[in-house]
Order: sequence, then C-alpha cells, then structure tokens
Amino acid sequence: MIRFEQVSKVYPGGFRALNQVNFSIGRGEMAFLTGPSGAGKSTLLKLVTAIETPSTGKVMVDGQDIATLSRSKVPYLRRKIGIIFQDHNLLMDKSVRDNVALPLLIEGFSSKEIEKRVEAALDLVGLSDKIKFQPQHLSGGEQQRVGIARAIVTKPKLLLADEPTGNLDPSLSVEIMRLFETFNRAGTSVLIATHDLGLIARMRYRTLTLKDGSMISEAYQGPAS
Ligand code: ADP
Ligand code: ADP
Repeated sequence: MIRFEQVSKVYPGGFRALNQVNFSIGRGEMAFLTGPSGAGKSTLLKLVTAIETPSTGKVMVDGQDIATLSRSKVPYLRRKIGIIFQDHNLLMDKSVRDNVALPLLIEGFSSKEIEKRVEAALDLVGLSDKIKFQPQHLSGGEQQRVGIARAIVTKPKLLLADEPTGNLDPSLSVEIMRLFETFNRAGTSVLIATHDLGLIARMRYRTLTLKDGSMISEAYQGPAS
C-alpha cells in the first residue's frame, strides 16, 4: 500500500527532515510510526498524501509513484486515503452529520447515499445518537470519533492518523485503537503516527521508528507473548 525507497526530504532552507528512508506497509497491514518530536513523522505522512514531494527517492502509494502524479491526479490519490488529526479539524459550528458528510459532498454523492453512509459511519464509531449535535458540545473522545467517522465515510483503502490519541486519556486511547482495529480487520491499511509509547506497548503491531529523519527500526514492539 505504501513503499518508500531511499526517500529524503530537504525543506527549503536546507533542513533535512527525512534521510534515505526505506519501508513498506502491505495491503491490509496496521502499523505504528513513532519517534521523538521533530523526527519527521508528519513529513512522512505528508509525502504519502502528496502534500509534500520527496527531494530524492521514490514514494509509492497503492502502486503509484507520487512524483509522476500530475496535479490533477492528486485528488484521486487522496480519495483512497482517510486522514485523522490530533486536533480533529472539525467544523465546530456545524452538526456532526454535516462534518461527516463533507467528504461525500465533495465527491458528489447523492443526498440519499450521503445519508446512508453518514449513518453507517456514525454507527461504527458509536455516535448515532449525537448526529444533530455540534462538535463543540461533545467530549474530546467523541470529537475524535467524529473525526474518525469523517475519515472512513468514503471507505478509504488507507487510513493515516497523526497523533490521534494525543489529547485523550489512556482508556479513551485504547477505545480509539480498537476502532482502528475494526477498520483494519475489514481490510483497510492503517498507519498511526504517535509518540505514545505506552499505547504502542499495549498493542502488537509493527512499529516504524524515526530518529532525526532516519528510520532506525521496523520491529514489533508489542508485549512479549
Ligand atoms: P514530527 O512530526 O516527527 O514532529 P515533522 O515532520 O513535523 O516531525 O518535522 C521534522 C523536522 O522538519 C522538524 O525539525 C521541523 O521543524 C522540520 N519541518 C517540518 N516542516 C517544515 C517546513 N515546511 N519547512 C521547514 N522545515 C520543516
Ligand atoms: P505540527 O507541527 O503542529 O505537528 P503538522 O506539521 O503536523 O503540525 O501539520 C501542519 C498542518 O498540516 C496541520 O494543519 C495539519 O492538520 C496538516 N497536516 C499534517 N499532516 C497532514 C497530512 N498527512 N495530510 C494533510 N494535512 C496534514
């Protein structure tokens, strides 16, 4: 689903955020991406979504080399990817329904199909009863679940999460992780960037570790069985 071959990213001004990074995430795989703040995690995710382009090396997403994508093809790539942010990026003064419907509106789905999919997505994250609420009236954990519903409502092949549990307490974090596992079991590839080492230790998934822009480990870091 994702393959990086000798990928380096040097930002304008000369800062080398990624250095000769190699890794791949298979179809249907779920993995963590970790490393200290500034290690290059967000940069790596932005390369996957073609927000940034590599300075050298090759980034392949779902079999496509992002460097060869024309600007008009980037939206097609993004449609395959659901993105979840720490700060939710929700529209606080719109209803939960409108927030979750947004990606479907952009894609031009019929209102009947939108209603069906929004209800199904909210059902999956356990928020059916909050459909008419505005996110500003929901708890942090509920807001994060709205963000997740919005990310999966288009049924993406790949789910990327950037510090999805950053503002949540440990039990809510585990709940969010269980949701990711549900989507993963349904066939979605999942990559979760986090520096929550406690969370990583509680789950058994491959963990890609970045340090100063280099990939220093790709090992499993779950508890010993
Ligand atoms: P992480 O997500 O692991 O905290 P980032 O990928 O956000 O790391 O950042 C890695 C490094 O690249 C940081 O030192 C950051 O300051 C730098 N960086 C990120 N974005 C830019 C940019 N647009 N221009 C210049 N430097 C950047
Ligand atoms: P920070 O340095 O605070 O971690 P980031 O570098 O993660 O900030 O993100 C800067 C902006 O880019 C944010 O508004 C974030 O929502 C957006 N962003 C980060 N990663 C991605 C991504 N993979 N795809 C799309 N937008 C992203």
